[in-house]
Amino acid sequence: MVRLLFWIALIAAAVWFWRKFKRSISTPRSSNEPISTPMVRCAHCGVHLPQDRALSLSQHWYCSQTHLEQGPGSQDH
Ligand SMILES: [Zn+2]
Repeated sequence: MVRLLFWIALIAAAVWFWRKFKRSISTPRSSNEPISTPMVRCAHCGVHLPQDRALSLSQHWYCSQTHLEQGPGSQDH
């Protein structure tokens, strides 16, 4: 019986630690944490993506090679 209580306590502790760990991950980024890559907007479809994944052409950013070739899309939404 003592052994059972030991396991229950161990599992409860594990769940508590897991919840605490999960909460620390899910918390939004604090303001003091620097954003590594700035976000840019695709000139064709308007999707936002990290600058290191975007393609630039004549002062415009594009999300993919296809949109780079198609050029800026219509600005009216
Ligand atoms: Zn795009």
